[in-house]
Amino acid sequence: MRKNCNSLHIRIGIFLLLYLLAGELSIQLGTINPGNMAIVWLAAGIGLFAVLQLKKIGIALVFVGSFIVNTPHVFHGDWQHQIGRIAVIGLIFALIDTLQSFIAARAYTQLDQAHGTQLWTRPILLPKVWLEVCLVPSMLTMPLFIILMICSGLIPSDTSSILLRSTILLLADTSGLLLLSPLYPYLKAGTLLKELRRVFWYLTATLPPILINYFLLDRMLVLLLPLMLFITVRFKMAATNFALLVVTQLCIGLTAKGYGFWAPQNLVISLLQIQVFTFSIALALQYLAQTQMQITHHKELLEIEVQSRTESLAALNAELTTLATTDELTQLPNRREWQLKASQAILQARRYQKELSVMMIDVDHFKKVNDQYGHLTGDMILKEIAKICQQNIRGPDSAARWGGEEFVILLPETDHHQALVVAEKIRLSIAQSQHTPKGKAPFHTTVSIGITSLMPSDSTLDEVLSRADQAMYAAKSAGRNCVQSAQFMSSNYLSQSKPS
Ligand code: GH3
Ligand code: MG
Ligand code: MG
Repeated sequence: MRKNCNSLHIRIGIFLLLYLLAGELSIQLGTINPGNMAIVWLAAGIGLFAVLQLKKIGIALVFVGSFIVNTPHVFHGDWQHQIGRIAVIGLIFALIDTLQSFIAARAYTQLDQAHGTQLWTRPILLPKVWLEVCLVPSMLTMPLFIILMICSGLIPSDTSSILLRSTILLLADTSGLLLLSPLYPYLKAGTLLKELRRVFWYLTATLPPILINYFLLDRMLVLLLPLMLFITVRFKMAATNFALLVVTQLCIGLTAKGYGFWAPQNLVISLLQIQVFTFSIALALQYLAQTQMQITHHKELLEIEVQSRTESLAALNAELTTLATTDELTQLPNRREWQLKASQAILQARRYQKELSVMMIDVDHFKKVNDQYGHLTGDMILKEIAKICQQNIRGPDSAARWGGEEFVILLPETDHHQALVVAEKIRLSIAQSQHTPKGKAPFHTTVSIGITSLMPSDSTLDEVLSRADQAMYAAKSAGRNCVQSAQFMSSNYLSQSKPS
C-alpha cells in the first residue's frame, strides 16, 4: 500500500516536472509576441498523458502545471503592481488548458475503448485521432484563449491580428497533441525509452540537414525527407515522433532566434510556416508509420496463422499416418506397416548375419466363438489377444494384425529356440485368459502358432511368411492350441507343445 502510494507520488512528480519542462521549452524556443504564444505547445501532449495516466489527479496536475508555467510569462515588465490580476488571468489560462487536456483524454479513452490495439495499427483510424484527440480539443479551447487574451489586453483586438493568432494558437496546441499522442501506447507499455534508445543515433543525423538549411543554404530542409522516411519505415511510430519533435523544436528555436534566411521582419510568418511544415510532415509521416505498423501487425498475425495451420496440419498428418498404419480394432500396426518393417528387418538380418524369427498366430475355432457369443465378444477377444501378444514381446519385436483372427510377430535377433519360448508364453497366456460375456458362462479361447526363423536361402519376406503359415497350419492339424516350428518340420521333427 505504502509502496503504491510512493510510486503514485513519484509519477505525479515526474508528470508535473515533464509538464513544466515541456511548457518552458515551448516558450523558451520561440514565442510570438505580443501574447507570448508558443509555436508548438508540447505541454498539451504531456497534459494528455497526465490525465490518461493519473485521471483526476492528472487533471489537477495540469491545472497546477499550467498555472506555474504560464503565469510568469503572461506579463512582462511592471507586474508587481498588478499581481492579483495576473494571478486571476493565470488561473483562467490554467483552467482552459485543463479543459483542453480533459477533452483530449476523454476522446483518446473513447477511441481506445472502441478500437483497442487496432487504434495504433490501422491507418484508417489515424484521422480519428488527429481530429478527435488533437484538433477538436484545440478548436474548442482556442476561442476561450483568444477572448481571454483580448480581454486582458495581451493581444490587439483587430481582426487580422485575431485571425493570425487564432491560427497560430490552434496549430500550436494541435501540434503539441499531434506530436505526443502517438507516444502514449509506448508510455503505457513502458517501452518509450527503449524506442528512444533504438533510434537515438539516427536522430542525431537530422542535425546536418537542419544546420545546412539555417547556416549554408536556404530551403534545404527538404534534405530531411529521405532520413525521416527511413526512420519512419524502419522504426515506425515512436521513432517518427521523436524525429519530428527534434526537427520541429530545432527549427522553431533557430528561426525564433533569427537564424536562417527568413526575413527578420516577417518572423511571425516564418514561424507560422514552420508550424504548417511541422503539421503537414507530421500527418504524412504518422500515416506512413501507421501503415508500417499495420503491415507488421498483419505479418505477425499471418505468422501466427501459418504456425497454427502448420501445427494442425502436422497433427492431421500424424493422425493420418496412424490411421494408415494402425489396425482400428486392436490398435496394433496393420499388415502393410508390419510388412514394411519385417522386410527391412530381413534385409538387415541378412546383411549382418543376424538371427530373426517370425510367428503366425491364428485363433482356434473363432467362427464358432462369433456364432456362439456374437461378433462384439469376438472383437473383444481379438483385442485381448493383441494385448497379450504386446505384453509378451520385447521393444524391438513387432506384433501386428495380419487380418481377420490372425496375428503375426516379428522377432529380430531371435533364434527359433528363443522364438519357441515366446510363442509358448503367448499361447499359454491366451489359453489361460478367461472371457466372460454378459449373461453367459465364462470361457477360454486358444490359438495355434506357427514359427519360423530366417534361413540362409531366404531372400524375401514372403518365403519366411509362407513357412510360418505352413507351421501354423501344421499346428491346426496337430490338434490346435499348440506351437509348431517350421525349422523342425523341415527336418521331419515336430516340435509340439501342449498344455498339460
Ligand atoms: P480355425 O480354428 O480353423 O482357424 O477356425 P476358425 O473358425 O477360426 O477359422 P475360419 O477361417 O473358418 O473363421 C475365421 C472367423 O474369424 C470368420 C470371421 O467371421 C471371424 N473374424 C474375422 N475377422 C473378425 C473380426 O474382426 N471380428 C470378429 N468378431 N470376427 C472376425
Ligand atoms: Mg484364420
Ligand atoms: Mg482361426
